[in-house]
Amino acid sequence: MNRSFGEKLTFWYAQNKRHLPWRDICDPYKIWLSEIILQQTRVNQGITYYQRFTQAYPDIFRLANAPADEVYKLWQGLGYYNRADNLMKTAKIVAGQYNGQFPDDFEKLKSLPGIGDYTAAAIASLAFGKKHPVVDGNVYRVLSRIFGVETPINTAKGKKEFTTLAFRLMAGHAPADFNQALMEFGALHCVPHHPDCETCMFKNSCFAASTHRQAGFPVKKPKAPVCNRYYYYFVIQVAHKGETCFYLKKRTARGIWRNLYDFPAIESASALEEPLDSIVLAQKTNLFEKLPYTTGTPSVVYRQQLTHLKVSAYFIPVFLTEPLSNGQKKSLFLVQQKQLTNFPVPRLIARYLQDIKHIK
Ligand code: SF4
Repeated sequence: MNRSFGEKLTFWYAQNKRHLPWRDICDPYKIWLSEIILQQTRVNQGITYYQRFTQAYPDIFRLANAPADEVYKLWQGLGYYNRADNLMKTAKIVAGQYNGQFPDDFEKLKSLPGIGDYTAAAIASLAFGKKHPVVDGNVYRVLSRIFGVETPINTAKGKKEFTTLAFRLMAGHAPADFNQALMEFGALHCVPHHPDCETCMFKNSCFAASTHRQAGFPVKKPKAPVCNRYYYYFVIQVAHKGETCFYLKKRTARGIWRNLYDFPAIESASALEEPLDSIVLAQKTNLFEKLPYTTGTPSVVYRQQLTHLKVSAYFIPVFLTEPLSNGQKKSLFLVQQKQLTNFPVPRLIARYLQDIKHIK
C-alpha cells in the first residue's frame, strides 16, 4: 500500500529527528521562548540562548518581572533587539492578563507582541495540539520542490497558498509531529544546497528532482537593495572621581538598536574621506562644548550586515580634561571603564570593546 506524504514524513521524523532542548515538551512558555530565539538565529547558537533564558527565568513570571537591561544583556549577540522588547511585553501581558497561562487560541496568540502567524501556529500546534500548519523557510523549500509551487514565497499570495497546502497535507496526523517533521526534513535532508535526492523518500514524486530544478525552489521576488550607513562613534574619555570614565547614551528612537546603549556618534549616508573629519561635524553640534580635547587614532572599520543595511563604523577616542557640563541635555551619562561591558550594546560596539579591553 502506498503511504501518504504525511505518513512517510512522520516516519522519517521518528527515525531522524535531532534531540533539542525544546523538543518533546509541551510547555507553551518554553516553546514560545525557543521560537522567538530561533527567529533569524541558527539552532546551535539558539541552544545557548535558550538555556541561558530558561535558567535565568524558569517561568514567565520571572521573565515578566526582570529588569529590561538584564534581559537585553542576556539577549546581547542575538541581534534584532525588537524581539527582546516583544519578549518582555508578551511576558508581562501573559503574566498579568492571562494569569501566567498562554492562551491556546491562534488569534489570541497572534494578538501578543512579537507573535505572528508562524509563532502562533507553532505554539498552538506544539503546545496545544491544534491543527495549525507552521510554515517556515524549510517548509517553503520542501513543499515548493516536491509539488513544484512557483508562487513567490515572499508574497501574501504565496504565503496563503503554502499554508493551505500544508493544512491539507496535515489531515489525519498529530499537528505537533507533522509540523516538526516537515521543518526537520527541510533542515536536515532537503537542504538549500545539494539536497540528498538520491536517498530521498520523495525522489520519485518530487517535481524539482525530476526536472533537476532543486536550486530554483522556492521562488522569491527580488528584494529591495541594501543601503549603506556610516557611523563615527566618539569614545569620549575623562577622569572623574579618580576613575577613567566614558560617555554613553541610550538609543530611544525607533530603529534596529532601540533601547541599546552606544557612544555619541555622527551618522552619514556616505563615507567621509577621513574618519577624523567627523570631529569637525561633531564640533558643529557642540558635542565637546568649548572644552579642550585631544583625539586618539581612529579604529579600523567595524562592519555589520543587517537585513537591508550595511553598517560601517569607526571609533574615535576623544580625551577631555574635565566632564561635560551639559552631558545631561544630550542624554549622555558617565560610565566607569570597568562597568562598560555591563550595558547591552550593538554587536559591533561589543566587538570594539572586546578589542580595546586590554588598553589602559
Ligand atoms: S527529492 Fe530532493 S528536492 Fe525533492 S524533496 Fe527529496 S531532497 Fe528535496
